Amino acid sequence: MTKTIKKVLVANRGEIALRVMRSCYEMGIRTVAVFSEADRSSRHVLYADEAECIGPAPSSESYLRMDKIIEAAKKHGADAIHPGYGFLSENAEFARMCASEGIIFIGPSPETMEAMGDKIRARKTMMEAGVPVVPGLFEPVSDVAAALEACSRIAYPVIIKASMGGGGKGMRVAANAEEVESMMAQARSEALSGFGDDTIYIEKYLQNPHHIEFQILADTYGNVLNLYERECSVQRRHQKIVEESPSPFLDASLRAKMAKAAVAAARQVGYIGAGTIEFLVDDDRNFYFLEMNTRLQVEHPVTEFVCGVDIVKQQILVASGEPLSYKQDDIVQRGWAIECRICAEDCDNDFRPSPGLIQRLSEPNGAGVRVDSAAYQGYEIPIWYDPMISKLIVCASRREYAIERMRRALYEYRVVGLTTNIQYLRRLIDIPAFKEGKYDTSFIEQNQDRLAARQGYHTEAEDIAIIASYMDYLMNFEENTAQTDDDSALSRWRAFGLQKGVLRV
Ligand code: ADP
Repeated sequence: MTKTIKKVLVANRGEIALRVMRSCYEMGIRTVAVFSEADRSSRHVLYADEAECIGPAPSSESYLRMDKIIEAAKKHGADAIHPGYGFLSENAEFARMCASEGIIFIGPSPETMEAMGDKIRARKTMMEAGVPVVPGLFEPVSDVAAALEACSRIAYPVIIKASMGGGGKGMRVAANAEEVESMMAQARSEALSGFGDDTIYIEKYLQNPHHIEFQILADTYGNVLNLYERECSVQRRHQKIVEESPSPFLDASLRAKMAKAAVAAARQVGYIGAGTIEFLVDDDRNFYFLEMNTRLQVEHPVTEFVCGVDIVKQQILVASGEPLSYKQDDIVQRGWAIECRICAEDCDNDFRPSPGLIQRLSEPNGAGVRVDSAAYQGYEIPIWYDPMISKLIVCASRREYAIERMRRALYEYRVVGLTTNIQYLRRLIDIPAFKEGKYDTSFIEQNQDRLAARQGYHTEAEDIAIIASYMDYLMNFEENTAQTDDDSALSRWRAFGLQKGVLRV
């Protein structure tokens, strides 16, 4: 327990709420869960010491209701609120509301959040700190003629970005002058609907860069720790799918330079807590500041494995006014960690979300395996939220062993009742470019064929159905081998076996 924080309300749901509560438990801190009506039987609710329903399923009526969350914190006597990631985690207004109610917001100051949440402001701040930024504008642009003039100065291709954007939304690439006007309009309308602000700016679109980010921890005593990098270049539509630490692309000298820049960036904004400095790195090993995330990242566990630090615990310590438990010399990268995001989605059908009831679940475990999951057998994944159901993280002494371990863990992972991306991830980690560690942000696009489901490749649920079709075939042999032209006379299992090509007529 810390001196000032004895009870934490976690303003989030699912795997991340659970993950935060686990650190609280270890620290002897009591926890309060908040939940929507759709999440009544979620694991984070069952795990917490206390729980409060804050409204109907849509997040705008529950997990984004600042008033309801503050009210719950006061009712349950929580000293602090941990926002997790997403939802209110980068909302400066919420952090201010917490402060005015005497509740500790576990995160940086509202001013820092505002400064870094605005990409244009962040670019200016970083330039002042001497951190290289992606070439481009430092002012918003709205006029097409001015944009065209800027684009020809920056040189095509360019990327038009929402200043308040996040989650890969509100970004459009223009390959030439003809595309600028329509891409501006698209970026703006996506920004307006997604972030309520249509401010856009333009920067150079780097060809197939690496996305490499640095984890920072800072306390109120002036200590800024660098927990080194995460390689996040496996992305689909600018969203991360697989992350690893260390990055196979960095050598010791570039790592040291980027770490120095990341610490300078954090110091420039007087950063407190856990934060991430994202960089793009081009083939010539030039690195550029992309943005700073002022919260816990989805992919933080790979850093926790490699550096041996519980980032959430350090966040809580810092928020309670205590110093970080480590000095920079204590932070050493040991071994290799890889994370896969496990999602309820149909990768063979345009990644359509596939919520539903988990009828059977068997999660991997064993040496070097961590599953941050909110799922359980009999749990129904709600349609209302992100389709990510868990994160599978493995670590080993070397990269090749970590990949072998991930392959084994994905093989052990069984989810029956809904479609997941597990088979897709199994295909992904076997692609030569990934195995060799020679990939960049174009990886997914360049390996579409290898990632596509092969003919005759079955999901777990299909495997079970196929076995059932064989059993049905054998148990009703005479009936099933009788000649018939009437498909309706076929048993359901036999029809399935025929359709999959595993049974013959
Ligand atoms: P968001 O805040 O929406 O996550 P980011 O600015 O962090 O957006 O960018 C997300 C991803 O988009 C990056 O990891 C990279 O793959 C791609 N991207 C963004 N800016 C550029 C750029 N200037 N050149 C090339 N790719 C970019």
